[in-house]
Amino acid sequence: MAQVSLKDFEKALYKRKISDHRCSKCGGRVSYSIVEGTYTCQECGFVEKDNYGKIKDMLERNPALSRIELASILHIPMRELNRYFVGGVLTNPRDSLLG
Ligand SMILES: [Zn+2]
Repeated sequence: MAQVSLKDFEKALYKRKISDHRCSKCGGRVSYSIVEGTYTCQECGFVEKDNYGKIKDMLERNPALSRIELASILHIPMRELNRYFVGGVLTNPRDSLLG
């Protein structure tokens, strides 16, 4: 598997995610945490998790979940979910079962 440096991966993630997301409560500007995958509203303080944040959160609580289970529980397409595992940003112990 090709190695993707964390920095490049984060840069790509940041570029994509920050684009035009607005707070779903008040429509205010948000700041994005690359590490946590969360948007925090600068107007009302409301915190939202994006798909990356949801996967990260779910894996922290249920480390044994496979990617397929994660995709089905969180309603995230496999194609998108797989992207978050590229570069080893997210890993889970059952990956090897999926080939
Ligand atoms: Zn807000």
